[in-house]
Amino acid sequence: MHLTKLEIQGFKTFAKKTSLSFLPPKPDRSPITAVVGPNGSGKSNLADAIRWVLGEQSLKLLRGKQSQDVIFSGSEGKGRAGFAEVSLSLNNEDGAMPIEYSEVTITRRLFRDGSSEYLLNDSKVRLNDIQLLLAQANVGQRSYSVVGQGMIDHILVSTPEERKAFFDDATGVKPFQIKRHNAILKLKKTHQNLADVEMLLREIEPRLRSLKRQANRLEKRGAIEESLHMLEQQHYGKQWWDLVDSLEAVKKNFETADQEIAAERTTLKALEAEMEKIEKVEDEPDTGLVALQAKYREVQKKRRTLRDQQFQTEKEIELTRVRAQSNWAPLPLIRIVEVVGAIVKGIKGLKNISEAAELHAEVDAIFKQSSDLHKKLQRPNPEDIKPDPKLVARLADLKKQAEGVTKELGAVEKEIDGYVSKEKTDRTELIQTQKVLREKQRQIHLLENRRNGLKIDLARYEERQGALIREMDEFMKDRAVNVRAQRPASTPAEDVYPEIQRLRYKLELIGGIDPEIIQEYEQTRERFDFLDGQVGDLHKAIKSTEKVIEELDEQIEKQSKKVFNKINKEFEKYFKMLFGGGSCRLVKLTREDTEEESEGVTPDRAFADTGEEQREKDETIETKIKKHKDPVIGVDIQATPPGKRLKALNLLSGGERALTSIALISAIMAVNPSPFVVLDEVDAALDEANTIRFAGILSELSKNSQFVIITHNRATMEQADVLYGVTMGTEGISNLLSVHLEDVTQGGTARR
Ligand code: ATP
Ligand code: MG
Repeated sequence: MHLTKLEIQGFKTFAKKTSLSFLPPKPDRSPITAVVGPNGSGKSNLADAIRWVLGEQSLKLLRGKQSQDVIFSGSEGKGRAGFAEVSLSLNNEDGAMPIEYSEVTITRRLFRDGSSEYLLNDSKVRLNDIQLLLAQANVGQRSYSVVGQGMIDHILVSTPEERKAFFDDATGVKPFQIKRHNAILKLKKTHQNLADVEMLLREIEPRLRSLKRQANRLEKRGAIEESLHMLEQQHYGKQWWDLVDSLEAVKKNFETADQEIAAERTTLKALEAEMEKIEKVEDEPDTGLVALQAKYREVQKKRRTLRDQQFQTEKEIELTRVRAQSNWAPLPLIRIVEVVGAIVKGIKGLKNISEAAELHAEVDAIFKQSSDLHKKLQRPNPEDIKPDPKLVARLADLKKQAEGVTKELGAVEKEIDGYVSKEKTDRTELIQTQKVLREKQRQIHLLENRRNGLKIDLARYEERQGALIREMDEFMKDRAVNVRAQRPASTPAEDVYPEIQRLRYKLELIGGIDPEIIQEYEQTRERFDFLDGQVGDLHKAIKSTEKVIEELDEQIEKQSKKVFNKINKEFEKYFKMLFGGGSCRLVKLTREDTEEESEGVTPDRAFADTGEEQREKDETIETKIKKHKDPVIGVDIQATPPGKRLKALNLLSGGERALTSIALISAIMAVNPSPFVVLDEVDAALDEANTIRFAGILSELSKNSQFVIITHNRATMEQADVLYGVTMGTEGISNLLSVHLEDVTQGGTARR
């Protein structure tokens, strides 16, 4: 992977669109690009542009106070720019970046209103995507891929913890760390989701329990109802069909009686006609006998009327009895509770009544209510059902009258007989016929009595049928029709009515339940199961993420250890090369080493821009997931130039510091080369001899890395394959032009 083109527009002093092309790599090494130019012409701005497009967030490193400071702020000749845009094109033919493209262009754009965007080959992406991609290609944008002006000894002045971040970058564990960071974010989110789901579950659980109880009750109710319905079907089926049979039989008997009566009446009519004929034949009707006969008919009529009345009264008395029996049904519990409630309420209300008369009336009312309830709760004793006394008296009276009339009739009969016996001889036929007639009348009377009895039976059964229909309809509802429609195949052997009453009472105890409860129960249970499943899934997700983090931690540790040792070796080599001897060493600091110096330092500083609070949160989760224990929390540098004994870094001279830094950066590049490196005047403090040594090292390292070097040193320039000059005119805008070494003056600035 190597740089192919840099395009800058509106970024700092590069107001106009400016483009810089890089040479393609040679077989043995990457070409070195040198940027030269006078002070303040914008060379460092060029390095800043590369740093910026790679996603740098630090305002300090970008030399600004706020992010919009990178936008060209205008000059005497030219107005300020509306946005800054930098595009860096990279050749990815070697696939260093794990992405499909062979040419990748990263673009960063920032507008004056503060909005910004990152593009990857013109598609919008997140900063995180770019950072991960670059880290995977081993571009350490923070630390050593772009070494800013005056930043070369930054590594020396920084704290051991800051250096640790730098070495994490250098040892190539950054991509793992980014992945780890993302995994921790994911883990945090999963934990949050889990907490949310668990809270929902806790909320639903009590409702579900109550619904389940109700559903169980409903189920129990259903079972009881089922057996009740079966028993009711048996019971009422038997009652109904027994009644139907009885009714049928009575009807049939009644009809027979009716027919018999009709037949007898026809015979009677014939007899009467015969009588009339005989009577007509008599020359002179005997007035005495005629009068007696008339009287006889009259008394007979009277007796019939009395009998009719008597029958009517008997029927009424019978009906009151039937009605009283069939109308009684046990009161439902609900009704009882209602009435008792009303009575209690009435009694309570008594306290508020002061008027004696009113009190009296209220007490009477309550007494009536309770005695009514009492009466209704007791099954009436058939003996106790007293028909209306008036009816009874009337019946007795009628019976007495009938007796009198019967006696009267007997007397008249006797009289007629006496009369007749006198004239027996001449009126035998008539008398005979009269006798037959009377006998017939008596028979008809007996038949009518029987028929009337049947009629009473019929009325009784019909009344009972009506009551049964009402009862069945009340208890069985729609099912009643079926029972009445079809005769049951079998009838229960024993009386099931007590069991029916027991089940009804049980149902009343259970009480009514809203049938929608079942539906709600089903829905709630489904939701509960779903959430419960989610909890399981989330736990699984947490486990697997924790495993990923653990594996990453292992990789980080392994890689870091391996590379660190190599860097240490190379550091010593370059140090000796630059200093012509001496000794140096990188030392890992454990927590105990630094405890006294700096307390409360967080070991993971890979993400310096994440806020303190955020890091703390990550920490708690990290501890939760059995935190990876990286004992190394800092890196110390020990450097002793030849012939000296000092060990403290701040005792080194400026040039010595620069040489030590260059040795370290070179070591890192040798071990873990970044595809490209931008160095802004890292050689500024070197004397001529060291500049030449540095140029040698550069040439060596360019085998593995593409260098862009900003310098004023001729020796460094001489290593370059291409030279760019940055100039600035009076209008305060940087211009970029390609120059040749011959065009460069002694001070390292382009002549043109
Ligand atoms: P030296 O050789 O001294 O390091 P240089 O070529 O590296 O110089 P730079 O640091 O790149 O110089 O340029 C700095 C100049 O850029 C300063 O004059 C500064 O005012 C100017 N500058 C920085 N930001 C902006 C901006 N947003 N708009 C216009 N000019 C800016
Ligand atoms: Mg500069």
